[in-house]
Amino acid sequence: MSKRLGPVCKLCRREGEKLFLKGERCLSPKCSFEKRDYPPGQHGRMASRGGGRRGRRGRESDFGKQLRAKQRARRIYGLMERQFRRYYKVSLKRRGLTGLNLLQILETRLDNVIYRLGFASSRAHARLLVSHGHFMVNDRRTNVPSMLLKDGDKIEIRAGSSGLPYFKDLNVLAESRTAPEWLERDTKKMVGVIQRLPERAEIDGSLNEQLIVEYYSRR
Ligand code: SF4
Repeated sequence: MSKRLGPVCKLCRREGEKLFLKGERCLSPKCSFEKRDYPPGQHGRMASRGGGRRGRRGRESDFGKQLRAKQRARRIYGLMERQFRRYYKVSLKRRGLTGLNLLQILETRLDNVIYRLGFASSRAHARLLVSHGHFMVNDRRTNVPSMLLKDGDKIEIRAGSSGLPYFKDLNVLAESRTAPEWLERDTKKMVGVIQRLPERAEIDGSLNEQLIVEYYSRR
């Protein structure tokens, strides 16, 4: 599995908004975007003076908007371009609306489901926990964060991991967060079950799947 290396907070500055990629830190005064909300790079601050928070992207072309919508979604879910494009191709082959199919694929990745269940503070953290083998899917241990889940799949913490310090107080974190309705969650047993695929209204409304589809269709 390839992953992006380098400062994550730069991605928020590049997109001109908080993407909440670092869990609790994003809600604290330590958030870099609170201190520097201009684009990264040598000319970022200067550019932001001329064109507002979006800096050099004050007037974007249609292509620029499509590119930004795609990059934004890719960064929120923490994916590399090749994998994101592969999901787009899979979503084309599925029945129904390509854009919604793509969002449903992204939402049903194991790392995202663990994050949505409140078992990790961010998708990146969920990915780390899965790759260390702390979770089971349908009673089998897995270390594949990109595993796509379907209705009825059960996610739980591996018995050998539940005694670790992080997992001991995890139900407090989980209870502080609301799980979406397409997931059933038991915070006492720390088990989650996929009830169904998420509907559009249950997925981040700021994602623009139409622009993402337009971006890939013209290439
Ligand atoms: Fe973005 Fe979170 Fe970093 Fe703030 S702390 S800049 S929201 S990743």
